[in-house]
Amino acid sequence: MIVKYRNLLPLLVALLLAGCAAPKTAMVKQTSLLMGTVVEITVHHEDPATARKIINEAFAEGTRLQNLLSIYDKNSEISIINRKAGIEEVKVSGEVFSLIEDALSYSELTGGAFDITVGPLLELWGFTPLDAEKKAASRQRQMPDKSAMEKTLSLVGYRDVHLDRSRNTVKLAKRGMKIDLGAIAKGYVVDQMAAVLRAGGIRNALVNAGGDMCALAAPLGKKAWRVGIQDPHSSNSVIDVIGISNEAVATSGDYEKFFVINGKRFSHIIDPGTGYPASGLVSVTVIARTAMEADALSTALFVMGEEKGRELIKEMSGVRAIFFSQ
Ligand code: ADP
Ligand code: MG
Repeated sequence: MIVKYRNLLPLLVALLLAGCAAPKTAMVKQTSLLMGTVVEITVHHEDPATARKIINEAFAEGTRLQNLLSIYDKNSEISIINRKAGIEEVKVSGEVFSLIEDALSYSELTGGAFDITVGPLLELWGFTPLDAEKKAASRQRQMPDKSAMEKTLSLVGYRDVHLDRSRNTVKLAKRGMKIDLGAIAKGYVVDQMAAVLRAGGIRNALVNAGGDMCALAAPLGKKAWRVGIQDPHSSNSVIDVIGISNEAVATSGDYEKFFVINGKRFSHIIDPGTGYPASGLVSVTVIARTAMEADALSTALFVMGEEKGRELIKEMSGVRAIFFSQ
């Protein structure tokens, strides 16, 4: 008997040592096209097969949400709300209701700089034409005339989005109003995809939707995920590198989506106060606790400008911003 135990001892010690050593993780990376953007998920995990399975679940969640929130899909809840503007209230899923509620709270927070009812202004400037005819017309890229601008501005205002929490209904008060979640949906979807990873037991991961990112914990042995901030003037160089873990980043800028009229560049971010594309900054990167918050705030700060933007986030916990001006 004694001899037997003595033989087992080295094995036991080896097992204990193995238990103490850091587990080896492999990096698994997958990409997919969602919301018009390449979405990349990077996971560090002991078991690559498990990682791949959970990543696929996260992409499935992204696809589901993309369809729910799109304004390009005529049957999405958002499209139905827009079609029924000024006509009747629409009962929506709890998820869409909460997202609209959150969007309206960012409008309150930012004094209206962030406003999901900018839809008619985006169409006036030719940004989200829904059908081919309108698309052709809007490509003319002319400055809108004063009366068209006044008429369109009368259809913009987050206070005209009426919510009834007890029944999950949304009503746009005036005919012709349109909501557009372009400045918040991507961040929200990224957060939800990260939540699927977390729920699947993944701890070390990064979800990146074209610069809107949500990070879980950093890879083992690393302090943070290193994220490059693109140089607004040159698409293949990085101007700064930041470290993030258990937080999120989003950037709004006029260097990727913009249009030119008479040689002047106009961004796709509209100042709901004036009806004109926001100008003054080249890009704003926001680091926040959630990608939804980073997404909404980066758009809002782009409209507000550096001075007012810094003032706004001064008191907000966990929020930082990097501004690039012209
Ligand atoms: P990107 O789409 O490049 O990530 P943003 O997150 O800043 O950039 O979102 C810009 C989009 O948000 C626009 O294409 C439009 O759909 C919408 N939008 C434009 N101006 C505003 C605004 N003032 N408030 C809310 N949404 C806006
Ligand atoms: Mg945004």
